[in-house]
Amino acid sequence: MADIITTPRSLMVTRQLCAKKRYLCHHADGHGWDVVNNGLSATDFGIALHEMLAQVMTSAEPLEADQPPVPVWYAIKLSKSALDSHVIRERRMLLDLLVYGWRKYRLPSILSAYNILTVEKEDSVVFDPEAYLPGNLAPSLKALKVPIRFDVVLKLKADPDHLVILDWKTTSAATQDWNNALDNSLQSCIYVEAARQLYPNKYIVGIGYEGLVKGRVEVDGAKSSPYNGLPIHYGSFLYGWQAKNGSTYKEYSTGRTRLFLPPVCTTTEEAFDACEAVYGGLEMFFPNTIPWKPKDAASVVAQQIVAENRFMADVELYEQLPEPMKYLYENTLFEQSLDACYKYGAKHACMCKDICHGGVVPSQEPMVFVPRVSHHSEIE
Ligand code: SF4
Repeated sequence: MADIITTPRSLMVTRQLCAKKRYLCHHADGHGWDVVNNGLSATDFGIALHEMLAQVMTSAEPLEADQPPVPVWYAIKLSKSALDSHVIRERRMLLDLLVYGWRKYRLPSILSAYNILTVEKEDSVVFDPEAYLPGNLAPSLKALKVPIRFDVVLKLKADPDHLVILDWKTTSAATQDWNNALDNSLQSCIYVEAARQLYPNKYIVGIGYEGLVKGRVEVDGAKSSPYNGLPIHYGSFLYGWQAKNGSTYKEYSTGRTRLFLPPVCTTTEEAFDACEAVYGGLEMFFPNTIPWKPKDAASVVAQQIVAENRFMADVELYEQLPEPMKYLYENTLFEQSLDACYKYGAKHACMCKDICHGGVVPSQEPMVFVPRVSHHSEIE
């Protein structure tokens, strides 16, 4: 087989979003740059949630089993952060209740239909150009190696030769297009082709996404709110509105005050019940898709083989340029997607905007960026 390019799927997504961002965050100066933050990111929340859910699946116990605790590393990070004590309690409570709710609403039906084959198992697959590209193109291309860690692989009880890949996804809201966006996503295509390679004698039913709606972090701007000025999870089930007569509602209207619903010093079950009492059932915060297999998965893999070969050839070319030439060619070789700079709204600008648009050089003062230590593509 030809030389190999190793690229995690998340880096393909970044390249599709903006080639310049992919270069700056994962290849620049041999390591890529990352922002200095308070040590606690949305990614940390997602990792902690996955750890707790993986524990649930590893024990494969229904709701009566012990609720897995919030990971110690996350609790320490939270306590060492500069976050307000309410926000720290909110983050811990949200992790705890999302896991509890998923166990309550989703786990029983999953366990009734499936047996668990693997949980968070590390693997990798190599997509060979000869297998995915026609004619004379393949011999000139390097193969694409992709590290794979399926959240859970399930075996259908009715037919153990049928496998489903389960994937947990946090989302800010349960919108109609949530599953549409995932059905034909790069992840679905890569996972289906990877599963076919890892389990060649099984029938891959598809990828089933399990949503957990966590809301979106935004500074509370409500003047009457006790949390005014704090970064809370809007749109999660943790908050309701209290009228002057003490009644609690899920919708705002004039005169109501934002209320954190889980009472202090209660069990997880009591805290969840307190949220359910206001929302009248929290199923909508745990959406899911049927297992789905995109029909164009193989052609998407072919696209990625070609795109990664092109991108890594540009990285190699750029790194060989003499220093004075480099900065002249950076934006030419690594196309900027200027429409992506504020893709997630004005409050969530791309971390590279000060480099691209503010004249900041990562390796110089002010040190707003630090070298990234992992997850960069490489040619073996
Ligand atoms: S600021 Fe915009 S152009 Fe620059 S890397 Fe980010 S998305 Fe790309």
